[in-house]
Amino acid sequence: MLQLLDISKDYENKPLLRGISFTVTANETVCLLGASGSGKSTLLRIIAGLEPPDQGTVRWEERDLASVPAHLRNFGLVFQDYALFPHLSVFENIAFGLRMQNLPRPEIEQRVREAVAQVNLTGFEKRGVSDLSGGEQQRVALARALAPRPRLLMLDEPLGALDRALRERLQGELRGILHATGVPAIYVTHDQEEAFAIADRVLLLHEGEIVRDGSPAEVWNEPGSAWEARFLGLGNVVEGVVRFEVGKLKVETSAGVFELGCRHAHRAGEKVNLLLRPSGVRLAADGNLRGVVADVLFHQDQFKVTLESGLYFYLPEAPPVGGEIRLRVLQSGIQCLANDDFIGLGC
Ligand code: ADP
Ligand code: MG
Repeated sequence: MLQLLDISKDYENKPLLRGISFTVTANETVCLLGASGSGKSTLLRIIAGLEPPDQGTVRWEERDLASVPAHLRNFGLVFQDYALFPHLSVFENIAFGLRMQNLPRPEIEQRVREAVAQVNLTGFEKRGVSDLSGGEQQRVALARALAPRPRLLMLDEPLGALDRALRERLQGELRGILHATGVPAIYVTHDQEEAFAIADRVLLLHEGEIVRDGSPAEVWNEPGSAWEARFLGLGNVVEGVVRFEVGKLKVETSAGVFELGCRHAHRAGEKVNLLLRPSGVRLAADGNLRGVVADVLFHQDQFKVTLESGLYFYLPEAPPVGGEIRLRVLQSGIQCLANDDFIGLGC
């Protein structure tokens, strides 16, 4: 088990990572999700032992790794740019690290065979890596990281260089490979869809801190703040003011007045953010959300309807552009979010 305790790091007197603590247990794929520049790669370098933290400890099975150099940590790394040797074959690329360890030839061959099978590239051993597609090259990079039998795998935006269609196909494949090998993994990405597709657990990194640690379903269903809902692209975030009507919570927004259930106490007049889920509405003549249709886009088996207010929803039929529609917001389609300026007061 990997354990990070209170890791902090400053660059040029600016805090980049602040009090980061989390664990990664056996068999688990944890996705570290954060915007570009949020410090994800720096955190991986600290775990790998390529850079010291200013504060805090990295432990493996309770042992502090501060005095263990990178090459003795037995952690595997996979990068976005693969970092393969273009003039070497698949076999030689995967064998490279094993040769550095001076393993006997039969052992090297056995391990390469095993790693090649794990990433579904059996039969590719003699091919030159520069003849392979981007997706295949990335699998060679993964096999190379797996061959020394690492106790932890770290992948830094491994699909970042690939086009969208290929990325989506490889997400499922990578998840399968990671689970089949059983090696615990930290998977870094700035792409929320990728994180949700791959992770057993999602860690959200924002302004140097882990602001969320939960399963994809938990993070998706219960965003903890307006920032989270926006960053994860969960839907429309609208600001409102709390009004009470004999015990009922109503929130007045520019899009309409909404009544909703909420676990937390609110004060009348308090500002809150609401999340309106794009699939959480129905067309209804008596709907309390009205707007003029600005744009309609075909989206898989539905239509993405954008209103002039900027709000967007998914509907089964395409309403005419320029016309007014009324929508009823379902209970499941609306949630109260902590206002980022009022954390602790809102939901
Ligand atoms: P991410 O991987 O999330 O995109 P990084 O960890 O690569 O973020 O970098 C975060 C920020 O830390 C960068 O924008 C940069 O300003 C700073 N940084 C990273 N490495 C160094 C360094 N060696 N020296 C100075 N600043 C650095
Ligand atoms: Mg990075």
